[in-house]
Amino acid sequence: MTQTVPHDAALSAMFETLRAQSRKDGMVSWQTRADRLSRLRSLVRDHRGTIGAAISADFGQRSRHETELLEINHVLDGIHHSLQHGQRWMRTQDRKRSYKYWPGRASILPQPLGAVGVIVPWNYPLDLSLGPANSALTAGNRVMIKLSELTPHFGALLAELAARYFAQDELCIVNGGVDTGRAFCALPFDHLLFTGSTAVGHQVMHAASDNLTPVTLELGGKSPAIIGPRAGPAGDFDKAVMRLVMGKTLNAGQTCIAPDYAFVPRGQAARFIASARRAVAAFYPSLATTSDYTSIISDRHFQRLQAMVDDAVGRGAQASPLSDAASDPARRRFAPLVLSNVAPGSRVLEEEIFGPVLPLLEYDDLEQVIDYINQRPRPLALYLFESDRKKVERVLTATVSGGVTVNDVFFHVGPDTLPFGGVGASGMGAYHGETGFRTFSHDKPVFRQPAFSLLSWVYPPYGRRAERLLRMPD
Ligand code: NAD
Repeated sequence: MTQTVPHDAALSAMFETLRAQSRKDGMVSWQTRADRLSRLRSLVRDHRGTIGAAISADFGQRSRHETELLEINHVLDGIHHSLQHGQRWMRTQDRKRSYKYWPGRASILPQPLGAVGVIVPWNYPLDLSLGPANSALTAGNRVMIKLSELTPHFGALLAELAARYFAQDELCIVNGGVDTGRAFCALPFDHLLFTGSTAVGHQVMHAASDNLTPVTLELGGKSPAIIGPRAGPAGDFDKAVMRLVMGKTLNAGQTCIAPDYAFVPRGQAARFIASARRAVAAFYPSLATTSDYTSIISDRHFQRLQAMVDDAVGRGAQASPLSDAASDPARRRFAPLVLSNVAPGSRVLEEEIFGPVLPLLEYDDLEQVIDYINQRPRPLALYLFESDRKKVERVLTATVSGGVTVNDVFFHVGPDTLPFGGVGASGMGAYHGETGFRTFSHDKPVFRQPAFSLLSWVYPPYGRRAERLLRMPD
């Protein structure tokens, strides 16, 4: 398959074939699902080097280890988990029912929805395309994936590989920009999973509503990190800062669940910055040249980050570089920095940053932090570094976010036994593991009635027997 942008008509034709096949599928045996998952696994395993190189070409430079850790391993782990548990997930489950329904039997039959659409952003193009595809295929669906225009090398490669490992009506790839995205969302999918910005999420949901297509929206937003009054683990301030900095510099901060901004106890900003500088020096001894540090995806994104920093500094914020290396616009390497004394209303406090820039907010009392977070849109992730268990419980129960990792970053997204998704402005619905299977299945309730049914005694003409039955205890 070549890397072409399909016309609306060609796109519709691809979709129609896929959907027509899905209507003939019925239940889809475990053998078929497992075979598709095995092929998905081979696609990734056989080409992990080429996949890493293509993603790196799209970024200009993307750490090979980060691609392995955060994309390739994560996808392979997810497929392994599906292969281990999928057959159990798809079984009919008997459900209890009240004695009034005796002797009938109630059960749930999980069925494939049919044709699933997946829209992918550029920041983790493998994980965010094949992760949802894993869930959708495990649930017995056929899948059409629209990749981002900002990952053309990866897009061309995945289209070619998908055509090699799958029939086009099983799993296929569409490459293209905003127009293709619009045409894609207008297709009457049985379910659409969109990962991307909150702004585009609105448009996707509007478009899907024309077809009553259910959506899962995996969006972004501003995820806070809190250095607690007794920063954990075991009150180790430097370890907490190091972990937080890791979350902000991995993929150069271009991660939906990256800590967007951080709270520190009042008077601790200078200590935080010194500690963060040591962390960056330890991670990237030669930040200007190391292949461990990832570039910003495009000139436009680089300039946007610089403009956000300039805006904050123009309003009186102090910028503290975390590295001696300067940013390099030609190679789109953005040197990490902390912003302190940031004025309210600055862009870095209003927009998702999506880069290695960390505004610091000082606080006197943890309750102020909780109020600040609760007055804003629900974040996708929240990170709390604290060793006092009561304070941890207070923050966990008083705030609502897509997920939380305590005393580290990102980890709540790893285990396939946990759902992954946002809440409110950071998204709706979830996937990963069994949750992903349920997202892409219809849990069909089935009632099997034998020849005798207790409630058939309540037929007209209503008499004393019906009266007695209607007064039976619950
Ligand atoms: P984006 O919203 O600009 O684009 C995402 C995808 O939507 C791309 O494939 C794009 O071509 C397509 N698209 C753009 N306009 C469209 C339209 N009108 N209709 C249909 N499709 C359209 O996002 P991005 O810049 O690629 O990614 C960054 C954003 O994604 C950040 O906000 C980040 O937080 C979020 N994100 C969220 C998650 C998550 O799991 N919650 C993961 C990664 C990224």
